[in-house]
Amino acid sequence: MVKKEFQAESKRLLELMVNSIYTHKEIFLRELISNASDAIDKIYYRALTDENLQFNKDDYYIKISIDKENRIVKISDTGIGMTDKELEENLGVIARSGSLAFKKENKAKEGYDIIGQFGVGFYSAFMVADNVTVISRALGSDQACKWESNGIDGYTMEPAAKEAVGTDVILKIKENTEDEDFDQFLEEYRLKSIVKKYSDFIRYPIKMDLTKSKPKEGSEDEYEQYTEEEIVNSMIPIWKKNKSELSAEDYENFYTEKRYGFDKPLRYIHISAEGTISYKAILFIPETIPFDYYTKEYEKGLELYSNGVLIMNKCADLLPDYFSFVKGMVDSEDLSLNISREMLQHDRQLKLIAKNLKTKIKNELKNLLENDREKYEKFYEAFGRQLKYGVYSDFGANKEDLQDLLMFYSSTEKKMVTLNEYVSRMPEEQKYIYYASGESIEKIDKMPQTELVADKGYEILYFTDDVDEFAIKMLRQYQEKEFKSVSSGDLGIEQEENDSEDQAHQDMFAKMKELLKDKVTDVKPSQRLKNHPVCLATEGDVTIEMEKVLSAMPN
Ligand code: ADP
Ligand code: MG
Repeated sequence: MVKKEFQAESKRLLELMVNSIYTHKEIFLRELISNASDAIDKIYYRALTDENLQFNKDDYYIKISIDKENRIVKISDTGIGMTDKELEENLGVIARSGSLAFKKENKAKEGYDIIGQFGVGFYSAFMVADNVTVISRALGSDQACKWESNGIDGYTMEPAAKEAVGTDVILKIKENTEDEDFDQFLEEYRLKSIVKKYSDFIRYPIKMDLTKSKPKEGSEDEYEQYTEEEIVNSMIPIWKKNKSELSAEDYENFYTEKRYGFDKPLRYIHISAEGTISYKAILFIPETIPFDYYTKEYEKGLELYSNGVLIMNKCADLLPDYFSFVKGMVDSEDLSLNISREMLQHDRQLKLIAKNLKTKIKNELKNLLENDREKYEKFYEAFGRQLKYGVYSDFGANKEDLQDLLMFYSSTEKKMVTLNEYVSRMPEEQKYIYYASGESIEKIDKMPQTELVADKGYEILYFTDDVDEFAIKMLRQYQEKEFKSVSSGDLGIEQEENDSEDQAHQDMFAKMKELLKDKVTDVKPSQRLKNHPVCLATEGDVTIEMEKVLSAMPN
């Protein structure tokens, strides 16, 4: 028998698990089942590529057994198994250390389903068990290995006997404490309902021996108990189910189970398309920005299935960049299973699906904007920036798609408004859509350049994001109204001339121009000012704010 220590990071995570006050301890079962299912998937893939290996569906299943007396719950699978080396590598070291870093960074935001989201997976067993034993036999090996740990400092490994290829995970369930009930995890009906809740769509049968009773033979009112093996999960993936059968909670559970996000989805879209191309998809718009969204590490993409079999984790080609926050999956029978990444890029079917999805997402957002303004504003606060980048990028190729989804703060409404709302409020004589760029709403409020426009009673859109003005420049106009910065030279507002007075000041202007010759191109009288003596204006297309952004950019 070999004794080993856990690595430092694993130890910390285990500590977190063991002492977890996490309320959803039940998710340990989801984690272990999902590992079992992954292990069977791996054998299935092998069989697809290895002629010597056959996959007989009936031989592959997951079984949960309970031994109440000894406080044992066992999760067995007929998956690919692990060699002793793999046992050590996979269970001795935490797979995804990212979760710990995340936990630290987000101390303030307690309450998120961090454990559920980041799939610390296997270790979650220690939330309910004070001892975990794994007996595994790998495909192609006739020797099994036993791994055992109390989840505190280390684990032991030794050779073991196991008849068939696969893995048994054996949990010794904790004793009840004053405020925690662990006995529940020894109850058949409880475990069954946990399976139903989180793992119903697992593609392989999850079996349990369930206790039933029937009338005793020859007796009317006496019953006897017997056990019967039952398949507990429906095995139908949620996306193949009818929308009418599903509740919002089912979608939320799927979102969590799939680890699409640590929040709840703001909106889900369930698509069942038939026609030139048939596919099913479930898409989610998250409620909050993923913690790595604005980092290089963030990868957009959807899970891609071919008739129920996962062929790619993050298929980037399915989403345009401006919808990179969308999470979810697509399943299509029309895609070939062993399709390679490069082939996918040129796949006509895939392009069709992508185009279709783009439209669906856009329509869903429009729908949200029209019917649930509050939710849309929440969405826009998180991802609006991405939409504006979308307008700006690809030389404006997507502007038609996105312009109606944009929102800006309005000087008169004192809240976020759409371009459509702005234009519909414009008085007859107003020629342009006016905007002002600045660091913040407060700062723009004080800008002298806004005075004349505001005085005219015209609405001004406030651009506080770097990308705003660039996006608008790409749009050029909206419903045939051009955009105009309040700091541009010609505001298109009729004014009474006051030539004589201006004339009187020509000498002063000339003097000012001379003094400021490196800093300004001209000094002119202006009618736009009311309460301020002077302001800066630009003549060309590039406004002062844009110049600031441009000069801050690395060359
Ligand atoms: P993840 O599933 O996210 O990789 P886990 O902590 O759940 O992380 O599991 C760690 C690794 O242990 C898995 O990636 C897998 O290689 C291995 N493993 C866990 N359970 C099993 C199992 N039942 N059969 C085979 N391998 C397993
Ligand atoms: Mg796992």
